Amino acid sequence: MAADVPTMLAMIVVSSLMMAASMAVVGRGRRSDGLARWAVALLLTAIGHTLIMLRGVVPDVLSVVLGNVLLSCVFVGLIAAIYQFQGRPARWPLLLAPPALVLGFVVAFIDNFAARVSFVGLVVGLQAVWALATALESRHATVGRGQWLLVAGLGLEAAVLGVRALLALSSTAVASGILQASLLQTLTFLATFAVVLISTMGFVFMARDRADENNRVMAAIDPLTGVANRRSLIAALDRDVSRAVRTREPIALMMVDIDHFKRVNDRYGHPAGDQVLCSVVNVLRGRVRAQDLVGRYGGEEFMVVLPDTSLLGAEQLARALCRSVAESRCRLSAAEGAEPGGGANIAVTVSIGVFGGRLESGDSWDMLIAAADRALYEAKENGRNRVEVAMALRRPAAQHAALDNPDTHPVSRY
Ligand code: GH3
Ligand code: MG
Ligand code: MG
Repeated sequence: MAADVPTMLAMIVVSSLMMAASMAVVGRGRRSDGLARWAVALLLTAIGHTLIMLRGVVPDVLSVVLGNVLLSCVFVGLIAAIYQFQGRPARWPLLLAPPALVLGFVVAFIDNFAARVSFVGLVVGLQAVWALATALESRHATVGRGQWLLVAGLGLEAAVLGVRALLALSSTAVASGILQASLLQTLTFLATFAVVLISTMGFVFMARDRADENNRVMAAIDPLTGVANRRSLIAALDRDVSRAVRTREPIALMMVDIDHFKRVNDRYGHPAGDQVLCSVVNVLRGRVRAQDLVGRYGGEEFMVVLPDTSLLGAEQLARALCRSVAESRCRLSAAEGAEPGGGANIAVTVSIGVFGGRLESGDSWDMLIAAADRALYEAKENGRNRVEVAMALRRPAAQHAALDNPDTHPVSRY
């Protein structure tokens, strides 16, 4: 099977140009994604294949020499784009070595078609392997399936160019000119067409996957303190409550509120207050276990979700947290020097309300928050810088009735 080579080249040129234009539009203002470099590589693909298509029409120095060098430069652009996506600097001298090699070889062997095809196939094939290895580097691995499309495209290109380089060495496989139809040419150009489409789509999806992941993280994190925000806290609590109802394991919840925080803002300014919030979060995070979740419930109020924790355990931890916060100091950064109290060490205390216990069917996350909140209110009433506990949830009357009736609630109670 041998397809018409100029037709295939035209397909590659048109598809590369369309993709380059689309990526230039999508990549505008998104430098860190490497889309612009990828678009340049696609443009080089189009120009390189146009020059090959014009073999015999334009001087050989353009079609043969520049055409082959540009094909090698395509991979320089692709690797540089992957580097940029990964946030690594491109090592240009190293990246430009293969096109320089191609230039030297093609000039020296301009009359030996088989040697040229073999050498260029080998060099560009190795560049494809280089791009593949760069995309797969685990340190810079990205999420999502876009990366797999990219890897599939580059892998296909490396394999086809490798086969081309080997076959080109046997005289029967190679036609006497690049535009002559042969199985090898058909394979090469069909693969190039597929690779342009697959790897470009993969790269665009990688950028989109990363944007999605960033959005997902941003939607779950409080931007000031870096801990879970109210939305993800409640989602996690809801999950843990359902699990605790199912497994009958105890669960605990703390509401932590900074005492007289308004005074900190009034005295040192809002930016200093922000630093104090971060400092308290660091103390909390430093003391809880890996499975516990610290989050910002709102303002200067934090929540700690403690799965598989008894009331006693949670109360002990709360007292330790209270002490740690009271003993810690928030040292204002130098940037606050111009602010009132710049460079000061600020001490704050927290009050903590704790709920802990086993749950019954029908219990929900909002009941736990209400109970911990009641305990927190008591801690404030009783003088602040202290811990109070809530022993029980306030269950609706209907739930009580159901729990008291063993027919409707066969699970034994503790
Ligand atoms: P209490 O001991 O009763 O909790 O007193 P308080 O002053 O801590 O409580 P109050 O609710 O009166 O004040 C909370 C303050 O927290 C008021 C608000 O300006 C401040 N605040 C809320 N969010 C932020 C924030 O993101 N940054 C800063 N700097 N302050 C905040
Ligand atoms: Mg407060
Ligand atoms: Mg408050």
